[in-house]
Amino acid sequence: VIGRILSGKPIAAAVLQSVTERAGSLISCGIRPQLAFVMHGASPPAQVYAARLERQGERVGIQVARRELPEDVSIAALEAEIAALNADDAVDGILVQMPLPPHLLGIDLSSIIDPRKDADGITIQNAGRLYLGLPGQAPPTALAVMQILHAASVKPTGRHAVLVGRSNVVGHPVAELLLLLDATVTVTHRQTDDLGAFTRQADILVVAAGEPRLITADMIRPGVVIVDAGINVTPEGIVGDVDFEACKEVAGAITPVPGGVGPVTNAVLLRNVVSSAERRGG
Ligand code: ADP
Repeated sequence: VIGRILSGKPIAAAVLQSVTERAGSLISCGIRPQLAFVMHGASPPAQVYAARLERQGERVGIQVARRELPEDVSIAALEAEIAALNADDAVDGILVQMPLPPHLLGIDLSSIIDPRKDADGITIQNAGRLYLGLPGQAPPTALAVMQILHAASVKPTGRHAVLVGRSNVVGHPVAELLLLLDATVTVTHRQTDDLGAFTRQADILVVAAGEPRLITADMIRPGVVIVDAGINVTPEGIVGDVDFEACKEVAGAITPVPGGVGPVTNAVLLRNVVSSAERRGG
């Protein structure tokens, strides 16, 4: 079948349904799962994101608590805030607003967030556990890509998965997760010569490059399953890294942007929080 659209919404809904049940069991034992969202400044996009997180959390039984720090917060003060959240037994997950402004780039979040509260899967321990194939908490976007492949009944074993992008939150962890499922994995990036020569070999193509319409229809082979993790704000609206309209005529299945990876990512973030809450105190 050509052109199947992999909408993220039903997949997210199924994840949230199970999160709601798990949070409900915790609440009936007196444990209210809580995610702390640490903000530096209050830019409109960050406010929109925080409000959406709060609303979604409320729906599934997870309390989302904003920690609003000033825009010019120092590294030391941000570190102190994270240390306080690490020590607070009522907090199950810690999420720091991204991207960091230039004056905060020196902070090493990967070392200071308690790995047990690492909702975004960015700590050294969780990255190491992923690399070693041990249970841990991976980045939500990477898990969302895997959730979509699973929901689409894609079996990665023996298939050629090609990643476009090697970021710590998408390309790199997805490569590890696909290797764990016995795919043959190729990771491409900005310096790759002749990108199309690789993408045309893909049975599974996962794109997270931050380049609008980087992947065109001539760069894919018929029947490929495409997961587009790109979110690019352009004058024509939000678009992915894949030329969706043209590629959907060639691909076997493809995620739209928006409405594909994004909603699943939010759901998986909340699932990470509930997983942390289940481990609370034990
Ligand atoms: P994200 O947060 O979506 O993963 P990043 O900006 O952190 O995005 O990383 C972008 C990744 O995409 C990098 O690994 C970069 O090498 C890759 N990339 C960017 N542009 C291209 C391109 N034109 N061709 C191939 N890879 C690219």
